[in-house]
Amino acid sequence: MRFGRIAHPEGFSFVVIDGQDDKDLVAKEIKDTPYTEPEFTGREWPLADVKLLAPTLPSKVVAIGRNYADHVAEVFKESAEHLPPTLFLKPPTSVVGPDAAIRIPEFATKVEFEGELAVVVGQVAKNVKAADWKSVVRGFTIVNDVSSRDLQFADGQWARAKGIDTFCPVGPWIETDIDAFDLDNLSIKAHLTQNGVTETKQDSNSNQMIMKMGEIIEFITASMTLLPGDVICTGSPAGTEAMNPGDVIEIEVAGLGTLRNPVERA
Ligand code: MG
Repeated sequence: MRFGRIAHPEGFSFVVIDGQDDKDLVAKEIKDTPYTEPEFTGREWPLADVKLLAPTLPSKVVAIGRNYADHVAEVFKESAEHLPPTLFLKPPTSVVGPDAAIRIPEFATKVEFEGELAVVVGQVAKNVKAADWKSVVRGFTIVNDVSSRDLQFADGQWARAKGIDTFCPVGPWIETDIDAFDLDNLSIKAHLTQNGVTETKQDSNSNQMIMKMGEIIEFITASMTLLPGDVICTGSPAGTEAMNPGDVIEIEVAGLGTLRNPVERA
């Protein structure tokens, strides 16, 4: 099942996105949130007639950094053995939905995309064992962990570099059928359009993740309680590059569709 959140003529709603053909999808309003079994209100709209928003309203976005060896090498000029995966937070105010602009302030330079598979948490989760990770996950989505590489290195702490408003596009929806995904072979790509020319910049696979999904959730929940709706970003593969106002960035994960966002000057 696909859960989304939409803006429609009467307001904002969580919805189930239904339909076989991608051109003919329908957004069916649910009474509550995506974290329980859906109860439908009866209102529905063609998806083409409404605007998709970020599919979740997280209390926090928890992210794993340095989880792909090739990305560690390109950014940190170090081996992943010397710089193991690390944990950081992106504030909920950085979250935007599909097609919303990534807005770059003047002081944020070398702002790069990071295409990532992400998890949406489905229930209160603390001290979860790796083998039980699926029990606390509502579904998968896509995140672009937008990062000012210059601020990241200048500050030491990553909060500002990765926490700027609009620096966490999420979407287009939450796919709950996680057993349909093969995490040992899941394609993750980033396509950057500059001056009307589109190039694939990231072309990798979740099988390159250093810390696997169960380990990630055990590692995070040993420290902090996850709440329904929280987002976990699982790390970016190599190929990240700077974006500029006027560009369009698309992150594509097999089975999850494409998360597209234009880039603007704030
Ligand atoms: Mg990242």
